[in-house]
Amino acid sequence: MTDDKEQSYQILKQTIPLLLKHQIPAVPTNYALWYTYASNQSEELNQALDKLMEQNSTITPSRALELQRQYLADQQEVDTWSLRQSLEAMLIELSQSLHDTKTDTQHFRQAIDTSLSELDKVEKEGWSIEETMALVRSLVKETQLFKRTTQEFTAALTSAEKEITELRQQLKASQSQALYDGLTGVYNRRCLDEELEVMEPEQGVCLIMVDLDHFKSINDRFGHQMGDRVLKAVAKRLKEVCGERATVYRFGGEEFSVLMKGVKLPQALHLAEVMRRNIEKVSVIDRRTNQTLDGISASFGAAIFEQGMRRSDLLEQADKQLYQAKKLGRNRVMPIAPR
Ligand code: GH3
Ligand code: MG
Ligand code: MG
Repeated sequence: MTDDKEQSYQILKQTIPLLLKHQIPAVPTNYALWYTYASNQSEELNQALDKLMEQNSTITPSRALELQRQYLADQQEVDTWSLRQSLEAMLIELSQSLHDTKTDTQHFRQAIDTSLSELDKVEKEGWSIEETMALVRSLVKETQLFKRTTQEFTAALTSAEKEITELRQQLKASQSQALYDGLTGVYNRRCLDEELEVMEPEQGVCLIMVDLDHFKSINDRFGHQMGDRVLKAVAKRLKEVCGERATVYRFGGEEFSVLMKGVKLPQALHLAEVMRRNIEKVSVIDRRTNQTLDGISASFGAAIFEQGMRRSDLLEQADKQLYQAKKLGRNRVMPIAPR
């Protein structure tokens, strides 16, 4: 193995126990994050992670993502990079073992050939017992050496097989622990729940619930597939509007949640208003009929996580405000921002 491959393989071997120790889902991006940690490539990243571990903070999926965004390269690049690295390292080790075995096999064959021609001489030249025994001993030695090589190779194969199986299982697990919603690509409900689980009132957390208006009628008039495209377009617009200010989750069906931190209610209401106006501008073209689907709107309910509130109260309050927005005629933000 070349030095850098050997090194990357060693770091990888340290990475997996780290993921297990901190109970971090083995998604490829997490590999990359902890791989970078284990390799000491980024002092800043290591400091950030060490600090979190010192505080015994849970490294939530979204926190891990934040760190990745901050300290690692483009995410998709990282995904393929880390997976390729680990598989490549394993293949290289295997082919190296194979090569060693091949060389040893050749060596063994030569040793046998030599011994056989020597054996001829035993009869022809009338070798002494000592000479014959020396020949037999060298044959036995060669055979033992060869046996050891094949055993080593078999062991290398078995351990590689085991690691490949583990990697595969981890990949499978990472798929079921996906953080993203399959249709829209924004974070999913599970991710929101995990985030809500660790938030504190001091963080100034604001939750905005977004529910598309009369979405059933969009499905009825344009079909489910167009409905899906509207959901995708709305999710994309919400993400664009929120940028770094807030995180968008698909709560389920035609509902989204937006989480803001470090803010007070008026700022959240302002962002909700910007989102509302932007959803009004979304349009999707039906490719079959060339018809434009627009007039899309959504209702918004916002709530702030205050001292003394239970986590479930926050969802309930935002829902209550959303219900008010629907009741008052939809396409609006509740509560009304004070002037
Ligand atoms: P309201 O303004 O009161 O929210 O009315 P609504 O029609 O949006 O609400 P309702 O809860 O009656 O209907 C929601 C609809 O969203 C029903 C369901 O078929 C549709 N829906 C949920 N998930 C999906 C999805 O993934 N794709 C599509 N196309 N439709 C979905
Ligand atoms: Mg709904
Ligand atoms: Mg709705």
